[in-house]
Amino acid sequence: MLTITDFINILHRYYKSPLVQIYELEEHKIETWREIYLQYSVNRLISIAPDSSLFDAIYSLLKNKIHRLPVIDPASGNVLHILTHKRILKFLHIFGSMIPKPRFLQRRINEVAIGTFREIATVQESASVYDALTVFVERRVSALPVVDDKGKVVALYSRFDVINLAAQKNYNNLNMTMREAVSSRACCMEGVLKCYPHETLETVIDRIAKAEVHRLVLVDRDDVVRGIVSLSDLLQALVLTPADIYKRSSCEDEENKMEVDLKKEDG
Ligand code: AMP
Repeated sequence: MLTITDFINILHRYYKSPLVQIYELEEHKIETWREIYLQYSVNRLISIAPDSSLFDAIYSLLKNKIHRLPVIDPASGNVLHILTHKRILKFLHIFGSMIPKPRFLQRRINEVAIGTFREIATVQESASVYDALTVFVERRVSALPVVDDKGKVVALYSRFDVINLAAQKNYNNLNMTMREAVSSRACCMEGVLKCYPHETLETVIDRIAKAEVHRLVLVDRDDVVRGIVSLSDLLQALVLTPADIYKRSSCEDEENKMEVDLKKEDG
């Protein structure tokens, strides 16, 4: 798999200044990056067979903290599909009406504690895109609430947004501010999708499924960021926790480790 995370890692590793062309990005071959990457990790390709259960797919996505799971035909080795959290939640949302709903869906999001409510990674709107990439490299989060100087959320910058830098050939200027990056997004993004501590889990699931987004930003009544509720949190709570499989507490992972090693090497 070659994903936006690789693109972010490459940009972050080779970027110097707006005046220096990132020639590695344009001229390196995929195999060159692969060699550099494999030097620091023993990551094997994580995949699943078509006859595996959806439960196994969810378990693999969450345990390995990945966002894309290729479904590979064992006989031919062909990739048949790429499973994501969004596809699975959509499926559960559509077919969920046929199975009894757990009672905790009616509880408030702050009571059930589903999501992350501490050490939320955010980025100031005056910070640079390079600062945002640094957070992506150091912490395994998929999006950053962009906040003003009072901590109020004004936008959301996701890993996926980084692809705009490539589309607009803007990756030579990572010194631009988040404010500029957000306002120059190619497609007009509607405001940040939020939820509030008093809302029920069911309301949150409906909102996230209908909007087809990966996460909602939990805010207080002043729009100050209090947490993140992502599809990973919902799948964990709806599928894995009821089967007595709990979230790993460690936030360290191989990819993280590799980035630290790469930085050490850079001095
Ligand atoms: P995700 O990669 O978005 O599926 O989220 C994986 C885990 O990280 C979930 O438990 C989220 O609640 C949490 N998370 C996502 N974004 C952030 C963030 N900006 N700061 C802290 N935790 C986050």
